Amino acid sequence: MARKNFKRSIIVARYKHCCGRCEGILESGARCYAVVKPGAYECDHDDPDGLTGEPTFENARILCIPCHAEKTKDDVTAIAKAKRREADHVGAFIPPKRPIPSRPFPKRPRKLRIELVPLQRRGVYEARIVR
Ligand SMILES: [Zn+2]
Repeated sequence: MARKNFKRSIIVARYKHCCGRCEGILESGARCYAVVKPGAYECDHDDPDGLTGEPTFENARILCIPCHAEKTKDDVTAIAKAKRREADHVGAFIPPKRPIPSRPFPKRPRKLRIELVPLQRRGVYEARIVR
């Protein structure tokens, strides 16, 4: 499904509506209220476009760049989860490319232990394999 961006008229109306202040909600639950200069903000879908969000005035939010980055992270997570649930719901299943290993597992070769044995001359050692 193609991305549905906001019309310029909606972005302008929303920017006027928020009076040049960020409409983001911080982790504490308070509103951000950061001053957003013209061109230094992003218009966000409150209900993500990847879910059911429509490009309407009611669904638009003027966000400062940090607020938008934070919200996008959450949106991407929610959209990915929705897609996984939808795939599970319709029974879409891709079998694994290689068989899932089961017991008995092949034994790994033991690592060799090497011991240094001093020779007659000082500072010279011989490496021996310890079983
Ligand atoms: Zn903000």
